[in-house]
Amino acid sequence: HPPFDVRLVRRDFPILAERVNGHQLVWFDNAATTQKPHAVLDRLAHFYRHENSNIHRAAHELAARSTDAYEGARKTVARFVGAESEKNIVFVRGATEAINLVAKSWGKANVRRGDEIIVSHLEHHANIVPWQQLCAETGAKIRVIPVDDSGQLLLGELSRLLNEKTKLVSVTQVSNALGTVTPVDSVVELAHRAGACVLIDGAQSVPHVRVNMQTLGPDFFVFSGHKIYGPTGIGVLYGRTEVLESMPPWEGGGNMIADVTFEKTVFQHPPNRFEAGTGNIADAVGLGAALDYVTRIGLDTIARYEHQLLEYATPRMLAVPGLRLIGTARDKASVLSFVLDGYRTEEVGAALNQKGIAVRSGHHCAQPILRRFGLEATVRPSIAFYNTTGEIDRMVAVLHELAADRGRR
Ligand code: PMP
Repeated sequence: HPPFDVRLVRRDFPILAERVNGHQLVWFDNAATTQKPHAVLDRLAHFYRHENSNIHRAAHELAARSTDAYEGARKTVARFVGAESEKNIVFVRGATEAINLVAKSWGKANVRRGDEIIVSHLEHHANIVPWQQLCAETGAKIRVIPVDDSGQLLLGELSRLLNEKTKLVSVTQVSNALGTVTPVDSVVELAHRAGACVLIDGAQSVPHVRVNMQTLGPDFFVFSGHKIYGPTGIGVLYGRTEVLESMPPWEGGGNMIADVTFEKTVFQHPPNRFEAGTGNIADAVGLGAALDYVTRIGLDTIARYEHQLLEYATPRMLAVPGLRLIGTARDKASVLSFVLDGYRTEEVGAALNQKGIAVRSGHHCAQPILRRFGLEATVRPSIAFYNTTGEIDRMVAVLHELAADRGRR
């Protein structure tokens, strides 16, 4: 790889030239969604200009092109996450739909009254609510792995929670609210040793951390395309072969059947069994282009640069009087959640927006973990590899102004 040059990388993202309130846009809302490089925008346009067709079922040239593009994207995803094969990759709308698929298909087939599902205190609502719904239907119970004051999982507590009733451990690899990188290798090992299945929520991890399904060994792994420079509306469920083969479909329709009579339907093998109806073909192809783009830059290069940005930002933010960082685990990625004395989080967000700086303020769809720290909301800048130290300086300068004005309000 050529050496990483952030100025060159920024040219790949046309939206970074936008002006907001008279300032050049600073996109620090990457944990909510990422911006799209030319490679993705051009691939989407190319698909609709030259390849657009439904897939798998026609005798004509464009159907062959679109099927090749869609199935090629599935192979790209499989390579990117180190899956055994592309048959382990189910296209879905996003991480949320992937978890719901597992809850509705695997969950209904495997979870009974009295069983237990373990999640962590860090989870996004997408990795809480589907399990609550499953528990309400089945009479199973949710158990929660607590975190320490830095926002890291207490692994010893997971060991205590695991027992013969545990059916699933479902844990995020990176917290969207705090940035904590969790020890997923140990989680998978402990859960499997106890005979439970494991789901890893990779929505916030795949853009920042290299993953490999064959070395990690989870039963399920989920992520969203839009958080890794791909389009919205497309995401991935990885499932281990035996587990996917054992699962019933969750939706019925075209594309997922081998044979239909009015008496009986024979379903396709995975992954098609889980892709009823016309899928999000173009955006799957766009996701493939995004993963190719990220691979060209190199995830290790990306991780190293983003880590430098975190190390640059952290002491400078802590130097702002009255600023408290939430989430101080040693292992962190991308996220710098904070509160500022004397200001509501939405006031801080609005002041930053005045200067063209986009951050999220609120509960980040992770209310339990914020309440663990006695909060209902934080301000959450989250960085990507197209961000710069100069942008961090611009943000910190606004925070210093707010802190200086505190007395005068
Ligand atoms: N899990 C985590 C950790 C997330 O950060 C998000 C998105 N904020 C999701 C799941 C859900 O992703 P999506 O909304 O793309 O389905």
